[in-house]
This record gives sequence, C-alpha cells and structure tokens, in this order.
Amino acid sequence: MSHTDFRVIINGGGPVGLLAAHLLTAAKIKYVILEKSSTVAAEGGACIFLQGSTLRVIEQLGFLEQLIALSTPMEFKEDRMIGGKTCRRTEVGSLWMNNHGYPCLYLPRKALVGFLRDSLQNHGETIRLNSNISDIKTGANGVRVFLNDGSVENGSIVLGCDGTYSHTLRTAQKLAQENGLQTQGLSTTRHIQTLYGYAPYPGRGEIGTLYEARSSPLGAQSCANAETVIFVLARRLPKARIERKHYTEEEKQEFVDAWRDKPIFADVTFGEIWKKSQWSILTDQETGFSDLWYHDRIVMAGDSVTSMESFAGMGFNIGAMHVVSLINGLEELIDREGSSPPTSSLTNVFETYRAQVEKPSRNAIDLTTKAVDGTTWPSWLSYMIDQYVFPLVGVRNIMHQVFSKDIIRYGQLVKFLPKEGTKTGAVAWHFDP
Ligand SMILES: Cc1cc2nc3c(=O)[nH]c(=O)nc-3n(C[C@H](O)[C@H](O)[C@H](O)COP(=O)(O)OP(=O)(O)OC[C@H]3O[C@@H](n4cnc5c(N)ncnc54)[C@H](O)[C@@H]3O)c2cc1C
Repeated sequence: MSHTDFRVIINGGGPVGLLAAHLLTAAKIKYVILEKSSTVAAEGGACIFLQGSTLRVIEQLGFLEQLIALSTPMEFKEDRMIGGKTCRRTEVGSLWMNNHGYPCLYLPRKALVGFLRDSLQNHGETIRLNSNISDIKTGANGVRVFLNDGSVENGSIVLGCDGTYSHTLRTAQKLAQENGLQTQGLSTTRHIQTLYGYAPYPGRGEIGTLYEARSSPLGAQSCANAETVIFVLARRLPKARIERKHYTEEEKQEFVDAWRDKPIFADVTFGEIWKKSQWSILTDQETGFSDLWYHDRIVMAGDSVTSMESFAGMGFNIGAMHVVSLINGLEELIDREGSSPPTSSLTNVFETYRAQVEKPSRNAIDLTTKAVDGTTWPSWLSYMIDQYVFPLVGVRNIMHQVFSKDIIRYGQLVKFLPKEGTKTGAVAWHFDP
C-alpha cells in the first residue's frame, strides 16, 4: 500500500535522519530531509561502532553486504595503562556473533553517513541542503515548517533528528510551554573534554582492535582500518559543567601537549599520529535525557533526546532503535486509519515509541557514564573496579550483561519488512524473541 498523503519533514540529515529516510521509503511514506549544512557527509567525525541491533535493521533494508564491505569487524579490545603497559586483551568478535548473530562493525562517521545518503533513493531530490528552519506551526491536520530562505515545507509531522542542540526540540518546548506544560528539554552535563579526529594509518597497531588507554584524568580510545587511525582522547574535567564551552586554538595545543608522548594506538604515540592528523576537534562531550520527546505533531529522535558520551559507542545505535520503533508505529497507524490520522492517534504512536525505547536508552547512557569512569577514573573506587573487579568478573561477562542483555537485545525489528534471513543468537531479541 502507498501512504501517499502522509508526509514527514525530517529536520537533520545526520545518521539518524538518514536511517529514518530509509525506513520511510520502505514504508512508502513520503518525506523530505532538511539539513542546515551544505552536505550531510561533512569531513570529520569519529569512528562509529555498529551493533547487531542496528545491523539487523540494515539487513532488513537490504544493504548489509555493502555496509560490511565498507567496515571493519571489531575482534579484540586491548586495555592499557596510559604509559603503554597492557592490562588485558579480550577477544570480543565471537561474543557479538554468538550473542546476536552479527559482528560489531566500525567505520568512520563520514563513510557511514555517505553510505546512508548514497543508498537512499532519489536523495538528490529528497535532501534539501543549506536549509535552516526558522519556525514550525502545527495545526489539526498537519505542520508548516518555515525556512530561513523564506520557503515553507508542508507535512503531516516534523521528525527532529537535529542532534544535541536540536532546534526542533526547542521549538516543541516553546509550543509545549505555551500550552502550559513545564519542560526542561534536554538538560546535558559535561564530564570530559575530548579531542577526536583521524590521521593516516601509522603502519603499526592491529586493525580490528579497539585500544583503550586509562589513567586519571586521561583516557583514550583508538582504532583503525587500512587507511585511517581514528582517535578519541579524553580528559576528565575537574568539575562537571552544565554550560557549553568553545575551545580556542591555544587550549587545543595545550591538550595535544598533554598527550604527545603517550602511546594511544598499540605502541604508537599520539605525537606520531598528530604530526599527520587530517582533521580534529576539541570539544566537551555531553550526557543527558530529554523530558520532552514529542509535542503536538513534532517528535524527536536520536541525539536530540538522548545524548551520551562516546566511550560505549552507543549513540547512533540507540538513535536507530528510536526511528525503527517510531516508524513501525506510524506505518501501522496509517495502515489502520488512513493517511490523515488525527493528532490524538499520532500522540499514541509517539508515546508507545518513547515507552519502547526508554529503557535501552537510559541503560546506554548509564553504561556510557561507567565506560568513561572506567577509563578516566574519577575516584579510587573506579580505579579499583577497573583494575581489580573487571579482571575478576571478566570483560566478556561484563560486556555480555551490560551491552548484550541490557541494551542490544532491545533492538527493534522493522515490522513492515520481511524478517526472513535476519539472525538471532544466544541473547534473544526482546521485541520478537
Ligand atoms: C567521538 C564520538 C564517537 C562516537 N562513536 C559512536 C559509536 O561508536 N557508535 C555509535 O552508535 N555512536 C557513536 N557516537 C555518537 C553518534 O555520533 C551520535 O549518536 C549520532 O551521530 C547521532 O545522530 P543524529 O543524527 O541524532 O545527530 P547528529 O549526528 O548530531 O546529526 C544531526 C544533523 O542535523 C543537522 N542539524 C543540526 N541542527 C539543524 C537545524 N537546525 N536544521 C537542520 N539541520 C540541522 C546537523 O548538521 C547534522 O547533520 C560517537 C560520537 C562521538 C562524538
């Protein structure tokens, strides 16, 4: 069935917005993506690890083989002290395969976003670049989105996928407050500053291994494919802060100097990598959970409602769960009620979506905080846990519990696409065991 009159205005062409576009295409629901930048696949970004919950969706969409060809499977995790001494090396490749039937893959953000864009039908027509919204008006039958260039997009709903500083969320908040609702939106806290970026593969260090360096207050993660090494270097802030900070070039240099002589990728020092660095940014990472996920005909997904630091590699994987759950609900609704459902029916869909993804989203935020603590040791307790409890319990056992059972198994199946051929492992999928 073609849901011809329903139209989704996706604000933000990041990975979550692009995945939403794929799902809407598969559901035969019309959409347009409004992206404020001049490209969706900008230079820069870190490495994105994709878990089985996301890969199953990609398999249902029919793109898994192409994505595998662009990616590297994570086989090992090697935890080191900041000076270089190895604390433990864990084989993790078979854990993901056994638990979920899929590997854990990683690839540069630019490659992921470029892939999601290029594999999207008619992306030249459905992605509007340089499109900044100035306002959103909602009515009983639809939405009007006003752009800074004076043009207007009409649709049935707005889906905000515009990241941590979401304009869509702020607009929904404003409308909610006008209707007497108290909301904070996404309140975020910053515990670490991070320099992330990439450089050419240095010729040493294993491809397929995630290297993690730990100390207090510095911690790092890095991994590589045959061309590129990608690094995330963190320094714990003396005190968590609420407000956003932009760093100067001098502050960046000072941060680089603190890391220069430290091995971060096997025995390769950051200084060696930094000399050839092709792109990098120093920024604080945020964590937070929005108290508002939708209002009227505006609904948000991905980093605009759940923001987490990068150390557990879950942000996009969680955003993927969001849009599958949401679009499953929309597809079912339109099938049942036709392509002009009332706002009350949409509200039910939005509420079900939030309820379905809340638990894994909160678990992922929680896990991320622990992962940051495990590498940048804010206290003696976190040092003891990292150095003595982890080896005792076993990294694989911990990953089995906190990644597989608490988060990945909540991955959503696309209900309107065939399930045949998708895989399952020892940890049953929660929504279709
Ligand atoms: C160092 C680092 C490493 C990470 N590693 C992983 C990982 O391994 N695995 C993982 O799952 N996640 C990882 N993440 C998190 C992941 O990158 C995010 O969760 C993901 O990018 C969120 O996608 P999004 O589409 O919601 O938002 P974003 O990626 O922020 O994209 C938002 C898009 O909206 C556009 N936009 C913003 N404002 C507007 C506006 N007003 N109008 C129109 N467009 C707008 C932006 O230009 C952008 O294109 C990592 C993050 C970092 C920083």
